[in-house]
Amino acid sequence: MDKMTEQELVESFSDAIKYNHIFVCYQPQINHSTGRMIGAEALMRWKHPVYGVQFPSDFIPVLEKNNLIIEADIHVFRTVCDFLRRCIDEGRKVVPISVNMSRYDIYNNDYVDRIEAIRKEFDIPVKYLRIEITESSAIGGIDLIQSVLKKLHSYGYLVEMDDFGSGYSSLNILKDLEVDIIKLDMRFLQGNIGGRGGIILTSIIQMARWLDTPIIAEGVETLDQAEYMKSLGSNYIQGYLYAKPMEEAEFVEKLSAMNHEALSPALDLIDNLEAGKFWNPESLETLIFSNYVGAAAVFSYRKSDNNIELLRINAKYIKEVGMGREEKDVVNSNFWEDYDEENQKVYIDTINKAINSNEEESCETWRRICSKMCGEEKICVRTDMRVIGKTEDVYMIYAMVHNITEEKKNYSELFESERRFRFASEQANVYAWEYDIRTKEMRPCYRCMRDLKLPALLKNYPEPAIEVGIFPPDYADMYREWHKKLEEGVDHLEAIIPLTVGRVPFHVRYTTEFDEAGRPLKAYGSATLVIEEDCECKDKEKDDEKSEAKDE
Ligand code: C2E
Ligand code: CA
Ligand code: CA
Repeated sequence: MDKMTEQELVESFSDAIKYNHIFVCYQPQINHSTGRMIGAEALMRWKHPVYGVQFPSDFIPVLEKNNLIIEADIHVFRTVCDFLRRCIDEGRKVVPISVNMSRYDIYNNDYVDRIEAIRKEFDIPVKYLRIEITESSAIGGIDLIQSVLKKLHSYGYLVEMDDFGSGYSSLNILKDLEVDIIKLDMRFLQGNIGGRGGIILTSIIQMARWLDTPIIAEGVETLDQAEYMKSLGSNYIQGYLYAKPMEEAEFVEKLSAMNHEALSPALDLIDNLEAGKFWNPESLETLIFSNYVGAAAVFSYRKSDNNIELLRINAKYIKEVGMGREEKDVVNSNFWEDYDEENQKVYIDTINKAINSNEEESCETWRRICSKMCGEEKICVRTDMRVIGKTEDVYMIYAMVHNITEEKKNYSELFESERRFRFASEQANVYAWEYDIRTKEMRPCYRCMRDLKLPALLKNYPEPAIEVGIFPPDYADMYREWHKKLEEGVDHLEAIIPLTVGRVPFHVRYTTEFDEAGRPLKAYGSATLVIEEDCECKDKEKDDEKSEAKDE
């Protein structure tokens, strides 16, 4: 074959159409799990009588530049319809054929109507034709491509998003364009499947699943790639591994040699999963962000025997909970190996909660980690998990993990001192409670519950305490003000307040606990009965201590 110049291409174009020098090759699309054909893509070829076969990469840019691509694309569509008509007439089984639509066709108002007229002329059921658009079609603005998509849908065509994954910014495009199938080109990720590429791939597949959109992996050349996609629950493959694009006669043979099946989503999505939720920019960001920098894993869970297999983990996951082990050791280890019975139960209960609620569910579990470096160690991990797909009794779960061992240790120390404090309080006529600043929940001590008839948990505190008259009306606003200050991050509050209908004077104090970032977490409240000395001593303290309390 000789490469043709731009001028030669342009000059021979009308003959190429007229004499079918421009023709179509077909590349089968296969379900890797079943080996059946699910469709084929029509790819344009140009066999010049003198210069030989020309490939799209050489002549398509020229046709685009010279405004000839629409005629070439229409020619391809017509050729495909003609082929399908002959197949149908001859009683052959056919598969849907995907036809490429250039982004220049989109600027051409009548492209969709023209192909629809051709389809009608050949009387081809619309289910046998799919249209491939590329994300670059959106470059000129989303509105135009949206209206083209709407029109194609109104005629009943399934639309594929071609070359998905060629640009990361494009993830957002799925939100605006309701395509029916995503085509993901493995060549964009080549040589990089286990690393960044793999993480991107996992995100894309998860998102596709949330949108209930099947994926066809394109450019699949090796069994490894196909198996990898399969492990992520994506079985549709188009690539040299199964077949190169072939001329019509060969394709017809292939069609009759192979079994066919209809394309359907790889995994059934759980019905009421709110796909939309993931598509507000914040959630999308969260998702991508989690995959890039958060410690995350995708695992499968088989309900019948509680078997868990880690499918994908990211580097941060290894760092967070791998405890110096290698990725392959983490993935290949028996998931339950590190868990004792009690923690395993907590974990499985949480998975089942997530399955039932379709929401994110969290648990904290301890596991034993043995490593060459550190010997045996126990770590506490918080797992936020969510079901992202299911097949029969296997669920696919997306989990974000945080190693909270340190936090946990701090907490138990704190808890220990708090417990001692409470114990001391009991001895010294003190009422104590814990106020969660973020949730406005208050947990009273046993004595409060007993003497003041409070439940174990009060929501929207302090309103319920004001309501039942523990804090009298003339002190209510001041006490409310305190809770505002706690929210703002004040570290200490105290005042003498008459409590209950008996207006018994109590010395009421709050001490705030902050998280690492300095945000207020909890405030520990106490109320001590005021006796003479306490009053005096408090007044003294008040002079040298910084007090946030309102003047009495
Ligand atoms: P595309 O739409 O992404 O088509 C897939 C390309 O990947 C095809 O190249 C196909 O031969 C190639 N391919 C498939 N499997 C493998 C594989 O395993 N390994 C490798 N290395 N390549 C594989 P082709 O036929 O050269 O087409 C190139 C591009 O030209 C197409 O990319 C498409 O953008 C454009 N094109 C082809 N036919 C048409 C058409 O009828 N109309 C328009 N507008 N563009 C077309
Ligand atoms: Ca294509
Ligand atoms: Ca492609």
